[in-house]
Amino acid sequence: MTFVIEEVLPVLADEVKTYQVPVVDLIAVQTKDPYKILVATILSARTKDEVTAKAAERLFKQVPDLESLAAVSEEELRKLIYPVGFFKNKASYLAKLPGALMAKFGGIIPDEVDKLTELPGVGRKTANLVVAVAFGKPAICVDTHVHRIMNIWGYVQTKTPLETEMALRKKLPEQYWLTVNSILVAFGQGTCKSVRPHCDRCLIANQCRKLGVTPRNLPGSATKKGADKTIKMVSWNVNGLRALEKKGFVEVVAELDADIIALQEIKAQPEQLSDQLKNIPGYRAYWFAAEKKGYSGVGVYSREEPLAVIYGIDHKEHDYEGRVLTLEYGDFYLVNVYFPNARHELLRLDYKLAFNRDLHNFLDTLALKKSVVVCGDFNVAHKEIDLTNPKQNEKNPGFAPEERAWMDEFIAAGYIDTFRLFNQQPGQYTWWSYRFNARARNIGWRIDYFCVDAKSEKRVAGAEILADIAGSDHCPVVLTFR
Ligand code: SF4
Repeated sequence: MTFVIEEVLPVLADEVKTYQVPVVDLIAVQTKDPYKILVATILSARTKDEVTAKAAERLFKQVPDLESLAAVSEEELRKLIYPVGFFKNKASYLAKLPGALMAKFGGIIPDEVDKLTELPGVGRKTANLVVAVAFGKPAICVDTHVHRIMNIWGYVQTKTPLETEMALRKKLPEQYWLTVNSILVAFGQGTCKSVRPHCDRCLIANQCRKLGVTPRNLPGSATKKGADKTIKMVSWNVNGLRALEKKGFVEVVAELDADIIALQEIKAQPEQLSDQLKNIPGYRAYWFAAEKKGYSGVGVYSREEPLAVIYGIDHKEHDYEGRVLTLEYGDFYLVNVYFPNARHELLRLDYKLAFNRDLHNFLDTLALKKSVVVCGDFNVAHKEIDLTNPKQNEKNPGFAPEERAWMDEFIAAGYIDTFRLFNQQPGQYTWWSYRFNARARNIGWRIDYFCVDAKSEKRVAGAEILADIAGSDHCPVVLTFR
């Protein structure tokens, strides 16, 4: 069946009426005040809707307009909006907002996208949303859901949300400009999820091309039970598991629907973790923390009970830092690794290279017995394609010649960078600096990997990067393994 946008969007608009309404639309129903809509939209970036709604309510009670915003300190703003994602940056943007509006637009919130983007913390997505929701003017707000779903349908073929916005401006009938964002945000959260979309219950499944999609497995489905059984593994440097818990980690685990979830940089001793983190329903949890508190540490959630768990690599200096946790299953080992950072001025480069060599030997020993899947934050971008600014970083930690040479050696020895089996595109990153709005601008590095030993290439069924999943400065990466 051919894909007709004029048929699909009305069906979805009807369908999502029963879903949770995106928070900015909810605020727009209560008020058309551009100040509140602008501020709520800034708060909502990379934050769950429930968290945004509560933070916006707290903030507007005490800071209901621009005048009161000008009178409140950045410190106070931080407290009011916590725990929205990037709350420190957002508090700083909000603190600067009244001054910037006064200096540029006489204290009035402009109703044009280009003008709005001159304000602190306002990108095109936010600007489009404010123009559409607060001023009711034609604007297409393209967030990750719109960008992702339009590409899944093949309605556009684009690499970034900005390209999608420009393509939609040319081809999407104007009658849908105002509503497409709220329809697809709700649809993307409820049915066409970024991980394992629910195609089995999707009303437009017969029109959708499902480009690049792996639908969810229903419990008890043939895929899980039959000969084609696959195992979904996720690796994620969480940059502090306790902090991530406050940003909705447990809900993300449910959304990931993975068989194995390997975490790095948990920055906690097991006894410091909440019961909720230690007892996620359906998973057994294994931890290997650094002896130094609040530093490094790895953990794995596994649906299946492993045959054995190996803590470290039997090397005191490395194991002291809680860097390697291995789970042995029937026909493979999962080795979860947090590689050392070479540090500023490459102060720890020698240690890092020694660790890499010892780990490589450990993996080779395991690979003599069964398949090896090694995942984690390798703390190195292998090739120029794996970071935005290779020339500027030639001698910097994470892209130093010695680190890249070790990765060359590792790959030459037969280990396979699974992501590159499926994707040769630039701009595919797993880590972004918290500074300079780098994630929104996709100025990043690919330093998180799933690799397998040479003889296991045939077992690799898929690999992807889940760049939409926020909460850490790294995003999760996925391997589907047969
Ligand atoms: S069929 Fe699947 S991929 Fe396509 S729109 Fe529906 S949920 Fe999304």
